Amino acid sequence: MTSSEQTDVVVIGAGYAGIAAAMALQDHKEVRVLEASDRIGGRAWTVRDAQGRAIDRGAHYLGVKHRALMALIDELGYSDQLVDYVEGFGPDPCSVSDMAGRRVVTAVSDTYLKIQGLDAAAPVREQAAMLRALAEMAALTQLVDAEQPALTPGAERLDTITFAEYIESKTLPPWFADLMYSGVRGVWSQSPENMSVLSVFWYMKTNGGFSEIFCDQEGSPQQYGLRCGAGTLLERWAEKLLHPPELKQRVTRIETHESGCLVTTDNGTTLACEHVIVAITPGQLRHISFDPVLPEPIMNLSKGAPGFSIKASVFYKAPWWRNGLGKEKHVFGWLNGRGKGGIDWMLDMSGKTDSDFKLVCFITPELLDPLPRDEWEDAVRQAIVDLTQNPHAGEFESIDMIDWRDVEGVQCGPNTNFRPGMLTAAAPWWGRPLHGRIHLGAAEFSDRFCGYLEGAIHNGRRAASAVLGQTATNSRSKMGRVAQRLLRRMKRAS
Ligand SMILES: Cc1cc2nc3c(=O)[nH]c(=O)nc-3n(C[C@H](O)[C@H](O)[C@H](O)COP(=O)(O)OP(=O)(O)OC[C@H]3O[C@@H](n4cnc5c(N)ncnc54)[C@H](O)[C@@H]3O)c2cc1C
Repeated sequence: MTSSEQTDVVVIGAGYAGIAAAMALQDHKEVRVLEASDRIGGRAWTVRDAQGRAIDRGAHYLGVKHRALMALIDELGYSDQLVDYVEGFGPDPCSVSDMAGRRVVTAVSDTYLKIQGLDAAAPVREQAAMLRALAEMAALTQLVDAEQPALTPGAERLDTITFAEYIESKTLPPWFADLMYSGVRGVWSQSPENMSVLSVFWYMKTNGGFSEIFCDQEGSPQQYGLRCGAGTLLERWAEKLLHPPELKQRVTRIETHESGCLVTTDNGTTLACEHVIVAITPGQLRHISFDPVLPEPIMNLSKGAPGFSIKASVFYKAPWWRNGLGKEKHVFGWLNGRGKGGIDWMLDMSGKTDSDFKLVCFITPELLDPLPRDEWEDAVRQAIVDLTQNPHAGEFESIDMIDWRDVEGVQCGPNTNFRPGMLTAAAPWWGRPLHGRIHLGAAEFSDRFCGYLEGAIHNGRRAASAVLGQTATNSRSKMGRVAQRLLRRMKRAS
């Protein structure tokens, strides 16, 4: 990129959302994608281990309802790379939940909604309390306005309290309160103390309800993965861009004028354009200086609670968890109780295979933060043994660990979560272009499948449609003049 250029649209960030936006625009507009990192993908990041096996350090799960992603896999010829994890679980597998001192092994057939820990064999009175709480959550989720969460009936009230306060306000069996707590940590990698009730129900609504996101069985968003990796799929997709994403171009400043925008990167280059799609996680917005500044409630979203994903992919020679509990029980997952530390959540990710047996686990920051990096592996090994109560669990062949808090340009995973007050305060600008030209394109702002790859694709395309809707009347030559004028103004100013 030379020091000053022009284009129609600048997309900031080459994750799934940014690439989806650019793909949707490129037949109509000239698009440039600027990426801060030396790789594309953002939170979709596939690496290869010494044996050449693909490891998804970020996103890996997808489900049949993720239609855009499934269509993309088909279009790019990657359908044979789909791995059905549920098929690998075998018939009626079990899960282990260790909640409030109550360690329960439950077969899927003994759970409600096939959700880990929703124990249909619990004492009847406790089941009744659990079902009442689930019914209330289902009803509240139904009421949520996915496009405009602040228009949800009672939104202000739901946005004043945290999800932890909501859980505590109920009379629940302690094991079920713990399960709700741990479920939130498992899905969002964040503590319910840092998330507003409205934001939790909104997220659930965009994903089709809690029964969708907390289920790991057939039809759920956790059913499939890609043998080649979700990052590899994106790389193939991005090869179809007319202008390849430009790496190591961290955007530091966006000026908006009546007639267009000026986008500046950390190596001093500037692009003039009509519209900017900012496809980065909200937490990263604060590293860009906006002139004029963005509305305060929008900037406040960047102070949301970033998910603290520390993810490990653990390979074993033998699947000790299959029949590991005797009586031919296959354990597909473990969920750890509130405050237990170690591992929050662990799942079988092998699929139907005779080799490369793999578990994925999400590790609590409390376990690793006090330790130097070279002690992490031993700590995680011990935590896996403690969680499973099986010494063979410590005998893994290899482990890949990533702390997403350290990944430049992202520093969160899987999401940024919104604290009380944030969603309602941002309502006047939610889903609308800021200063008429800046579009928030990341997965966090999606009104469908928020927080997932599917949501990133959906929101990237939504931002692209907004650009096309708005610029439909602008001819290319007019845009060129606008860009020239902005560049002249910028040069004068410097
Ligand atoms: C550990 C983990 C597990 C997950 N598991 C799943 C899963 O199983 N299934 C699923 O569907 N989803 C999962 N997700 C979520 C999924 O990865 C995200 O929803 C999705 O990838 C977000 O895409 P995005 O394009 O919106 O943002 P990102 O992927 O964050 O992309 C943003 C890009 O912008 C770049 N950037 C940031 N600031 C700047 C700047 N100033 N200038 C230029 N570039 C910049 C970043 O470097 C990054 O490449 C997971 C995420 C994590 C971290």
